Amino acid sequence: MVDRVTRFTKVADLAGAAKLKGKRGIEFAGDVLDLLPRKYLDRNVAGRFADFAPGDAVALIATVTEAKTHKMRQRKGSMLTATIVDADGTKAGLVFFNTYVAGDLKPGTTALFMGTLGYYKGQLQLAHPSYSFITDTDIYPGEVIPIYPVMKGVNDLNMAQVVRYLLDCWDDPDPVPAEILHAHGLVSEHEAYRMIHRPIDKVEPHRGRRRLRYDEALVVQTALAARRAAYDRETSTPRRPREGGLLAAFDARLPFELTAGQREVGERIAQDMAGERPMHRLLQGEVGSGKTIVALRAMLAAVDSGAQAALLAPTEVLAGQHDRSIRAMLGELAEGGMLGGAEHGTKVALLTGSMSKAARERALLGIVTGEAGIVIGTHALIQQGVDFDDLGLVVVDEQHRFGVEQRDALRGKATHPPHVLVMTATPIPRTVAMTVFGDMETSALTQLPAGRAPIVSHVVPAAKAGWLQRTWQRLAEEVAAGHQGYVVCPRIGDDDEGDAQAAYGDDDGEESEKRPLHGVVQTLEQLRAEPALAGVRLEMLHGRMPAEEKDAVMQAFGRGEIDVLVSTTVIEVGVDVPNATAMVILDADRFGISQLHQLRGRVGRGSAGGLCLLVTDAEAGQTYERLEAVAATTDGFELADLDLSLRREGDILGANQSGRRTQLRLLRLSHPKDVELIEAARDDATRLIAEDPDLSGHPALKAMLARRLDDEQAAFLERG
Ligand code: ADP
Ligand code: MG
Repeated sequence: MVDRVTRFTKVADLAGAAKLKGKRGIEFAGDVLDLLPRKYLDRNVAGRFADFAPGDAVALIATVTEAKTHKMRQRKGSMLTATIVDADGTKAGLVFFNTYVAGDLKPGTTALFMGTLGYYKGQLQLAHPSYSFITDTDIYPGEVIPIYPVMKGVNDLNMAQVVRYLLDCWDDPDPVPAEILHAHGLVSEHEAYRMIHRPIDKVEPHRGRRRLRYDEALVVQTALAARRAAYDRETSTPRRPREGGLLAAFDARLPFELTAGQREVGERIAQDMAGERPMHRLLQGEVGSGKTIVALRAMLAAVDSGAQAALLAPTEVLAGQHDRSIRAMLGELAEGGMLGGAEHGTKVALLTGSMSKAARERALLGIVTGEAGIVIGTHALIQQGVDFDDLGLVVVDEQHRFGVEQRDALRGKATHPPHVLVMTATPIPRTVAMTVFGDMETSALTQLPAGRAPIVSHVVPAAKAGWLQRTWQRLAEEVAAGHQGYVVCPRIGDDDEGDAQAAYGDDDGEESEKRPLHGVVQTLEQLRAEPALAGVRLEMLHGRMPAEEKDAVMQAFGRGEIDVLVSTTVIEVGVDVPNATAMVILDADRFGISQLHQLRGRVGRGSAGGLCLLVTDAEAGQTYERLEAVAATTDGFELADLDLSLRREGDILGANQSGRRTQLRLLRLSHPKDVELIEAARDDATRLIAEDPDLSGHPALKAMLARRLDDEQAAFLERG
């Protein structure tokens, strides 16, 4: 009998089984069943040589027309040569250098041949192909024949035999309860593997895979359900604003009306925070939709109730900017305890990694005594030695830059579980939200504050004469009109090549480019020499500049003392200079769709409207179309869906969510059919966890989770 953890030694007598150990993550015999066919060959259509080029891995059904054994002249032994003919009548030679195979390849025999297609003396040839007799219905029972990924030392016949053996002896209990399978019309696990590896017809592999995709969804959703249940068991301290307190004073001095969306989301948050359960809310909103004020109002409510609020930002630039803009918005309300400060005032503390020791000490003191009601910082906030007096609310800005671990680390700084608000400007397709942020409730700000003029975007083909020139003229015109702009480059370019991490991968399979990507350093030099930009004040900003220098440049840009900032994507997140109206993105094809959209959100934040020029060497093809799509719409959700359909799940989930990467092998978050499965799995998981928090009544399911989840995710089940 074979189950998940049967060792190879137990099945080692089986031809080929031992060779599979260690291949493609196969550790136990049962893992072989998860090595799925890469495609299926229709017995009746059979495949043709015309479908392949020399060098390709060929799998086709052909008939032997002649076969001969010769003695070799140079060496000992003999060789077999044969000729096979495909369904089209195309012929190819076979050659084997050891005749033990000679016996069964007789003229008239039809078999499935697999090998690398080559040329020998002007004729197609397969040297040492593997072959199986598809008429052997014990091995290949159905009308389609599975073809496995190419593995050294293992051929498909070995796979077929091992798989048949495993399926015959498989008695691992099904991890998913029968009634759930029944409700969704899913087959048993055993049947799923059978349909995938030994299908009778073309439909079966799809049905088998659907079951395995459901399992993937269920694993992720059960982990999330366990997390939600754990949150639900926590109690938090209700945080309500004081009447006539800080929030009221702030609202009274707001220079504009809140949008309807801001008000609505604000009320939801206020309700959450007034409750006994900790809030876990995700706030999505386009760049510039005004999330910061929503967050600030929640923070002020926390301060009003006597607690502190922390805002975690992904970069120093952004933390510094939040610090400045929040102080500016609060005005005298941020000068609590100081002469001239308002009666209800509080203090704002900034904590980043690069602060001087003295400034850091001062900030830490304010944080530990509770004097600083509002604490803004980078990862530095999460570190040891940062202690809060009473942390009541955690706000995480641009969550996609952080993992769940960081969110939890900051939560851990509170004596009682704090309320958590997560904000993201990257519109998240529903499936991704359910998968990555499935432990939170979600809200969205869908309208931009009134008076925002739209951003106009164009793709600029760099190769066309005069277009780049015109680009710099446009930038100069914006500056002449009193505005500012950005030029974004995919790398820094001071010496290294390793800093292009922000850039998009070679997803189109294009060969590495002839020209190095634009770097900030050289581009700044070039633009300073560019006649069209004469008199324009240019400076640069990138991640490897010393922190004070970065800060100084950002502030000078904010004050309008710099006209054009040449920078890397450090400006991508949250930089807010309303007077900046133009952005030129060089090597735009190196960035992902969502990233371009995010970058572009830096301009057009005021009433003047924005211009975004996407410069690329690409002239056609998918790359160019991707840029055209970004230029054509400013609807972030539309772009997020497009992005999702073009990228691999792992990339969407991001490095910080890499644990999820291995969990989603078959599930496609962009596929409507899988959306249904994810939703079903979410409901099932919620019910399972509610009825049986640690799943002790479902040992097989629990075992699957333990196998597929990392320790951190699985820990929530243990606490159940
Ligand atoms: P986000 O963080 O969502 O990108 P911000 O909160 O930074 O957006 O807001 C962008 C700009 O819009 C800021 O300058 C902010 O002061 C302004 N703003 C926010 N809400 C409103 C509103 N209701 N009316 C007018 N301007 C607003
Ligand atoms: Mg923001």
